[in-house]
This record gives sequence, structure tokens and C-alpha cells, in this order.
Amino acid sequence: MSSDAEEASEDRRKYEFRKVIEELQEYEGSGTQLVTIYIPEDKQVSDVVAHVTQEHSEAANIKSKQTRTNVQDALTSIKDRLRYYDTFPPKNGIVIFSGAVDSGGGQTTMVTKTLDSPPQPVESFRYHCDSAFLTEPLENMLADKGLFGLVVLDRREANVGWLKGKRVEPVKSASSLVPGKQRKGGQSAQRFARLRLEAIDNFYQEVAEMANDLMVAKRHELDGVLVGGPSPTKDEFLDGGYLHHELQDKVVGKFDISYTDESGLYDLVDAAQEVLADQEVMKDKSQMEEFFEKLHRGNESTYGFGPTRKNLIMGSVDRLLLSEDLRSDVIVYDCPNGHEEFEVVDSRHKTPEHTCSECKEKAEMREREDVIEHLMNIAEQRGTETKFISTDFEKGEQLMDAFGGIAGILRYSTGV
Ligand SMILES: [Zn+2]
Repeated sequence: MSSDAEEASEDRRKYEFRKVIEELQEYEGSGTQLVTIYIPEDKQVSDVVAHVTQEHSEAANIKSKQTRTNVQDALTSIKDRLRYYDTFPPKNGIVIFSGAVDSGGGQTTMVTKTLDSPPQPVESFRYHCDSAFLTEPLENMLADKGLFGLVVLDRREANVGWLKGKRVEPVKSASSLVPGKQRKGGQSAQRFARLRLEAIDNFYQEVAEMANDLMVAKRHELDGVLVGGPSPTKDEFLDGGYLHHELQDKVVGKFDISYTDESGLYDLVDAAQEVLADQEVMKDKSQMEEFFEKLHRGNESTYGFGPTRKNLIMGSVDRLLLSEDLRSDVIVYDCPNGHEEFEVVDSRHKTPEHTCSECKEKAEMREREDVIEHLMNIAEQRGTETKFISTDFEKGEQLMDAFGGIAGILRYSTGV
């Protein structure tokens, strides 16, 4: 697969996971009876089975008969699912959700969902039993996974590391031999000042080397570099051009922070939240700007379900833009005279009656499908890239509200 194709199917996987998470979040158990298990890829499945068996026998002590039965049923169902795996879980691990959820009117329904190979590795084994499913670790995996280089420094110490998605990873530190401001007796003031400046310069070079060693090799994957420290240290460091020029070009922000030990890396990320949020929607922003530019200039854009679908089938769509908030189904109708028509409805709504727009006959539903799946399937067949656009910025909101969450940037004008 080309890396474009990989990215496309990755987007699709993420969308599918997001949908499952939303569904799981809706569920509630009347007692502490919804079981979630996160299994890392290096955990032996037989160990997990043993753990689940143990929980099953401990559940015998649960006082409420109903909760006890529900928990034990959930655990049995999980054990059944685990039978399908070999010695170890697939890449990135497995997440299993199982339990009796409220289905209204005092009734419950057993729900069991297995997610294989989530988008990021499951980091540690977790057994969780509560009145809701534990979805947060999965949600974090779906958050946009940027890669940022981190540098914090003052004149005494420095730390460099990574921000990978939401995780800070300290990598290396250095401390300096820069003397304090007080000179010792007998030293000339001038000589002392010169030595001190030299020592500072040496230390900045050392810090830059540490950052360069770590980050230059990754410069093409890097979304940005953040630099933190007290003033004027970080400014001197940046203005002095110590960093490799390609890293220097990637500096997206400098921030005042007081600590420059490992904890400073975390402070830096906290201080940079706004910049990071901007960076996250940056790519989405440029897609939407291109769309609006083409829309205003003429006809190399399309929007709305019908026109976008037609263009997709013609193969004229370069990029399909779908709002991350789009949760609709498309219903395909057949009328007695052989006309095929579509209607897009909110996923939670019932299928409406449909009258054929051509012959005014009553049409029958042939199928109902998630509109995103429907469009992505056509896009994949036609070699069209799909981009999910967040609603965290104005033009992203417009895509959802004014264009029904569906638009396309065309390769050429089609007049559709
Ligand atoms: Zn008809």
C-alpha cells in the first residue's frame, strides 16, 4: 500500500473506532456490572483467561443477585471471545467490552464488543468493572497524534524530549558549568564576565546538539518544536541560531516556564495548549480554505450529498471532505418505475416515507447505510482521498452547518 492509501484506511479505521466508542458511551448499567478489559499485545491470552476466571469466582461474593449474575455473564462472554485468539493478541492489543446494559423499562440487554488492533498500542493491562464502559484510553488513542520536539532550558540545566499525541516523553538532560553572577575575589570583573558568557555560549551549543541529535532525523515527521524557559534564556537560545536551521524553522512557540528539569517538559506542554490546538486543526484549515477558494472562484468544488456523490462516481473528486460531526444515514429508495433516489437522515431518526421526485409514486426503501461509509466506499474505488474535518474552527463548523458535512475539492469542473 502507498502511504496515502495507508493514511486513508487509517482514517477509516479511526472513524469506525470513534463510532463504536460513541455507541459504548451511550450504555449504562444499573449496577457495577459493565466490564472493560484492555489487553496489550505482549500479554499472553492464557493469562487474561486466568484473570477473568479469577474475577468470575470472586464475583460470587457480590450481594445483589442481579448484579452478580450480570457480571458473571459478562465474564463468561469475554472468555468466549478470548477463545478466538492465539497465544498473543494481534498488533496493538485487544479491548473487550461486555455487560448487561439498560434498554429501558427496567429491561437489560447483553452487549459484547471486541476491538482488535486499536490505532495505538494498548499500554497496560486493565480490568475495569463499573456502571459505564471505560472508553477513555481508546479516546486518547484517537486524538490527533502530532509529534512535537520539546526543549526546556535555563542557564543551569536543560531537558529535551517528545510530545507524542498527548504523551510527554523525556529523553535527555544536561546541566551546565556556568558560574553564578557573583565573582570570586581576585578575578577581574571583565575577565569574569567574559568567561561567564563563554560558558553560557558553550552550554547553549550543548543543548542545541542534544536537540539536534534527537530531532533532526525526525524533522520530516515533526509537527513543530516548542521551547520553554525563563526570559531571557530561551530568547537568547533561539535568537542565537544555535538549533539546526530546519528545527529552528519548526519552532511554533516559546513559553515562559520556571522549571527546566523533567517536570518543565510537562509545564511546557501545558503552557502551549493553545498553540497545540491550533496546530491540530491547521491541516483541516488549509483543506477548507482551498475548498472555499475554489467555491468562490467557480466550479471546482462540490457539496451536499447528491452532487458530491455524483462527482465521486465520475471520478472527478480529488479530496472528499467529511465533517467529523457527521452522523447520518443514507437511505436508498426504489420507485415502481425504476427510479433510484436517496435521502440523508440523522442516524437516530426513523426511515421516512419517500415519494419519487420524478413520477410521484411511493418509493420503497432498498437499503439504509451510514453516509460516511457509503461515500468512503465510492471514494476508495475511485482513488479519491478522504479527509475528516474537525468542527473546532469556523470554516470547519460551516462545513457541518452550511454544507451538510459533505463537500469535495474537484480535479476539474464537471458542471454537476
Ligand atoms: Zn419514480
